[in-house]
Amino acid sequence: MASIEARNLCKTYESSDGNVIALQDVSLKVTDSEFVSILGPSGCGKSTLLRIVDGLANADSGEVLMDGKPIERPTQERGFVFQSFNLFPWRTVRGNIEFGMEIKGASKSERKSVSQRLIELVGLQGFERKYPYELSGGMQQRVGIARALAIDPAVLLMDEPFGALDAQTREDMQDELLRIWAAARKTVLFVTHSIEEAIYLSDRVMIMTPRPGRILAVLDIPFARPRSESHRTLPEFSALRHDIHSRLKAVR
Ligand code: ADP
Repeated sequence: MASIEARNLCKTYESSDGNVIALQDVSLKVTDSEFVSILGPSGCGKSTLLRIVDGLANADSGEVLMDGKPIERPTQERGFVFQSFNLFPWRTVRGNIEFGMEIKGASKSERKSVSQRLIELVGLQGFERKYPYELSGGMQQRVGIARALAIDPAVLLMDEPFGALDAQTREDMQDELLRIWAAARKTVLFVTHSIEEAIYLSDRVMIMTPRPGRILAVLDIPFARPRSESHRTLPEFSALRHDIHSRLKAVR
């Protein structure tokens, strides 16, 4: 079981051209095994929010709880997936995936069996010994996801993980992620600025607006699972996309 709750988070950055209110009174709840997206334009505070939820950054006020206990720093209960992949260039695919388990002190045989299972889960069989520079962007992000899953976190925090990929790879990776999520049963908090991506993936979408960063609305996504390409062409999907687009436009 893993739930996340943020209560009344506020965060202001000081900069040479004045203060930026990155988050103003932001609260959210993500329940066990739920897939929730934080959607909003660039600069609205999504990354800041996700980093605070992981404990990578501190809020000025408010609190974040995982299963009712305060989050104070990053721990292996949460896996973080970055937009820029952040792989270790000197490590192979397998070496990258096993990194967190090495830190944890897992034995070589345990590391190997977990990394093998994850390599199969993310579809990288045959690439175990390759280095990141030998992989496409989509493959690198599969490694990023497998690396985050390797420590068996209850929660996956994903910061625009597909933002650097071309449109077709991005859609393929969305399907891959849903398949992995269904198999691994993690609680997911997913940051994106793509309306379509948020709708396609999520149980709920939290819409954020900038300056100050606030939650504008939280929408339930009614489509059945498993999701597939046909959902994207449903009139209800277009209506939802249009609704979110109008809401974001109204506050721009
Ligand atoms: P998003 O992820 O939605 O693009 P961010 O959380 O990265 O938004 O940023 C929110 C706002 O805070 C932006 O206006 C950004 O310029 C500002 N900001 C983010 N990090 C810093 C920082 N370290 N110092 C100053 N301003 C920052």
